[in-house]
Amino acid sequence: MATPRRKRLRIAGRVVGRGESADIHLKFSESYLGTPVTIPIHVINSNRPGPRVLITGTIHGDELIGLGIVRQLLYGTPPKLKCGTLVCVPVVNVYGLENHSRYLPDRRDLNRCFPGIRDGSPSSRLAHDFFNEVVLQCDYGIDFHTAAVRMLNYPNVRADMNSEAVRGLARAFGSELIVHGRGPVGSFRRAACEAGVPTIILEAGEVWKLTPDVIGVGMRGIMNVLKWLKMIDGTPERPLFQTTIKKTSWIRADHGGIMGFQVPPGDLVEQGQELATNYSVFGAEHNVLTSPFGGVVLGMTTMPAVKPGEPIYHVAELSRSTLRRVQKRIEEHRGKPRFERISDVMASDIMDLKPEGGG
Ligand SMILES: [Zn+2]
Repeated sequence: MATPRRKRLRIAGRVVGRGESADIHLKFSESYLGTPVTIPIHVINSNRPGPRVLITGTIHGDELIGLGIVRQLLYGTPPKLKCGTLVCVPVVNVYGLENHSRYLPDRRDLNRCFPGIRDGSPSSRLAHDFFNEVVLQCDYGIDFHTAAVRMLNYPNVRADMNSEAVRGLARAFGSELIVHGRGPVGSFRRAACEAGVPTIILEAGEVWKLTPDVIGVGMRGIMNVLKWLKMIDGTPERPLFQTTIKKTSWIRADHGGIMGFQVPPGDLVEQGQELATNYSVFGAEHNVLTSPFGGVVLGMTTMPAVKPGEPIYHVAELSRSTLRRVQKRIEEHRGKPRFERISDVMASDIMDLKPEGGG
């Protein structure tokens, strides 16, 4: 657990006192007209010292899910903290959001620019100012992402499970799936972890969408972490199962054609199981894509028209014993609302099973 910092929280020159909440606008740039461009930040500070938890979204400007989760968290009655501080930043990449773009106007990926450079490019400056003004004052970070454009991710936490503090945070969040790794060089979570701020990300859903079930996963995760840190009452909700993934693989198209998807994200698959069938535009079958190992579908394309080499399914490997254990858990809890999985909801409008023969 984090030890309380002695220094008071100060962002953009604004000190947030005990028991106070504040909306802060952190200037990171200026428009062509010279007006300030700012990142909106909402801080909830309790009456008692404790951990500072940072929640970030939309570092990729087209990934709105963090925005939806923070809105849900703060709408109506925000969490009443027993101790510590919650720092909510629904949109870090303000320009990306405005332009419906993953990137910043200088065509850089903000999530490869951390911890930033004070007198560097516009993206490096943004990363630097945000990192130094906000991130370094916090004890834990939860960063929300979705799959890239035309892809769909089943909710999965990405975390460096070699770090004890990150491991605790990742497990407490309560996602079924945790993908182990430090993250790419320059990514927000890797830089934050290296600077001593244990940080995880949730990868869930699609760009440009606020999917209620995915928002629910994010909300539950935040509340679980706050319970784990004793910042609010209650014990963290445990998922149906939780497993750490070390190996994932992309299954790619071999032919140009039209895909019929047979498995939604989140489904368990056996080695050699059919995932999708590739058809010609006249309905002739090109080939069938199968899973190279037993595991779980982490993500998939939402675009049925494909070319050779394009990624179709992202599958995570599970050992034989884990796969059997998880299958059993899911079977035992099928139909219980508390353990409802969201695979079918997520893929409801893209699944295209094998077409019926003859017309
Ligand atoms: Zn992202």
